Parts: sequence; C-alpha cells; structure tokens
Amino acid sequence: MTDADLTIPADLLPKDGRFGSGPTKVRPEQLAALAATGTSYLGTSHRQEGVRSVVRRVREGIAALYGLPDGYEVILGNGGATIFWDIATVCLIERRSQHMAFGEFSSKFAKATAAAPHLEEPSVLKADYGHAPDAFAPVAGIDAYCLPHNETSTGVMTRIERPDGADAGALMLVDATSAAGGLPVDLTQTDAYYFAPQKGFASDGGLFFAILSPAAIERSERLIPQRWVPPTLDLGIHIEQSRLEQTYNTPALATLFLMAEQVDWMNAQGGLDWATERTGESARILYTWADKSPYAEAFVTDPAKRSTVVGTIRLEDKIDAATVVKALKTNGIVDVGAYRAAGYNGLRVGLFPAIEPADVEALTACIDWVVDRMTP
Ligand SMILES: *Cc1c(COP(=O)(O)O)cnc(C)c1O
Repeated sequence: MTDADLTIPADLLPKDGRFGSGPTKVRPEQLAALAATGTSYLGTSHRQEGVRSVVRRVREGIAALYGLPDGYEVILGNGGATIFWDIATVCLIERRSQHMAFGEFSSKFAKATAAAPHLEEPSVLKADYGHAPDAFAPVAGIDAYCLPHNETSTGVMTRIERPDGADAGALMLVDATSAAGGLPVDLTQTDAYYFAPQKGFASDGGLFFAILSPAAIERSERLIPQRWVPPTLDLGIHIEQSRLEQTYNTPALATLFLMAEQVDWMNAQGGLDWATERTGESARILYTWADKSPYAEAFVTDPAKRSTVVGTIRLEDKIDAATVVKALKTNGIVDVGAYRAAGYNGLRVGLFPAIEPADVEALTACIDWVVDRMTP
C-alpha cells in the first residue's frame, strides 16, 4: 500500500475535513466576517465602544442561547478554562471540594485543588477512561462539587444534577468547555458553567466564559477578602469588568469576534435546541456506523454516557488506528486521532455545532474506504 493508492475519491470526501476536538473547526463564514471588519476592529482599543460592543454581543448572545435563570450572569476573562480552575480554587471553593475525575481535564482540576495549601485534601471519585462515576458521594463539609459536562479526552458526557444530600449552599462547578453550545443543560443545577471558546463555539483559545449563579457570586464576594488573591485570578475583578463589557487585561480581539459570530449564528438557526439536535444527529450517524461496522465500536460502553459532541471509536486491534489517521490526513481529514493518554486503538471525532452532519457521514465513508484498502 503506497500513499498514491490512498487518494480517497473526491466524491466521498467531506466538504470540510476538520474534526478536531480543540481547537475545532471554525466556519469559513466566521473568518470572512472577521476579515470584512477591515480597519474598524482589529488594532483598536479594547476600552472603546468598538470592542466593548463585541463583548456585549457575546455576553447577550450567550444569555439568549441559554435563557439565563434569574440573577445568573455571563462573566469572561483571559486564560481559558485552565485558568478558571485556579480562579475557582482561590475564589469559589471554601474548604473542600469533591471531584469526578475520569480523564485528562477533570483530573487536572482535582490536582489543582489538591495542591492548594488553603484547602483540605479534595475528595476525588475516579473512573477509568471511557467511564464516569454515576453520581457524587456527598459528605458533610464538601462545599463545591466539580465535574465536566463532557470529558473531551475520552468522549464521556455526564448528567448535570445537584447531588442529593449535599450540604446546604454547596456549589456545582461544571466544566463545560467542550459541552457548551452542543449539550442541553438546566443551569439552575449549576453555579458555575464555564468554558473556553475554541471547542463548541468554533472560536479560538485564550478566554474563559463562566455563567455564574447568584450563590457563586456571593461565595466569591465573601471569600476574596479573606485570602490573598492575585488580581488575574480575582473573580470579583472579572465580574466587575464583565459588567462593563470589558476584560481586566487585553483580550484576544479575534477570538471574541469569532465567538460573537458563532453565538449569533447558533441563535439565528434556532438556539440551543437546534444546536443540540444537530450534534445529536452527527452522533447518531457516527455511532450507528460504528454499531454496524465489523471493525469499529463505540469506545464508551454505556450508551447514556456516549458523548454527542466528541465521539470516540475503538478499532479492532488488527487495524492500526495511527495508520488510518495518517491516511485520512493525507486526504485533508485532520485531527481524528484518539487522545493519546486515553490509551485505546481508535479515533476521536468532533461533533460540534459548526460541523455538518453530512460531513460526519462522509467521514465514516472515508474511514471505510481507507480500512478496506489496508492489508491487516
Ligand atoms: C480543552 C478543555 C479544557 C482546557 O481549555 P483551555 O482553554 O486550554 O484552558 C478544560 N476542560 C475541558 C473539558 C476541555 O475540553
């Protein structure tokens, strides 16, 4: 088998070959809209109306997409979801947190709180890659429950529900980095629903967004004066700046603009219901194909936990996934390799709202085409 034999017929190829799980496909229309701003936006001050109006557009757009419960606010700042873990560690967790840790991202947050000298050792509920704990295990003294809505490294999604039997006032901190925009959620079950823009919102990295409940805002207002909090991690500053439609220090203006375009597009198409229907359709296509395939199967064995925004597929051992990934790449289909640390022979496919379900269908045909031509 040579590379020349592996040119997939053009009529099988997806229109867009980007199926990565972060950064994810940016729609060409978003980029064109950014380019069309010409000299009026990039290169102008983030303290002036030109940029602040884009921050307002994003904040109002997210509020419209989710239909915010009373008193909830959309906050943003620099640093991505990773920084929000540090912000939560210093501004939202009072003494002790409980974490579900079942992949790279959820484990990292647990590590961040474990390293904090002002907090007690966190309670950590673990599960193997491809699985997730079914529920929290509330104990007295836990004041924050932390989980990802979608574990991007393994393609496992969770149900977002406050734990029964938690202490009154305990906060629910939900990492929605790959889930937001593509999975349904009842925000009244959350106190911080936080995410970065380069996954479900087809933008670029560098910012965090957090939808905060009144309880989360009150908690931060109480804790911050009691601790040394560096200004970049001070949630109070981020709240104050967000209310002014700006960020504490300079944001990535292109990221903000691409985000605004995508949020407006999703709202115009029919909002979160439309977006979750579309990711659901892409997921049905992928998992139905895997079910029928003689050589592929869903990596996540529990159908209820199979993510509809990041699909993970195990290939039978005699088919080397890295070879499949390489062949797809030479045909312009990129970033479908499994997350390395997840440790299975297989693929990971972004199913975010920006991705056309028809392209997911085309991808499955391309995988079949490549595997047919591989000699085991
Ligand atoms: C990508 C990702 C992160 C990290 O986001 P950054 O913007 O790189 O900090 C955190 N959590 C989840 C679930 C992710 O998918």
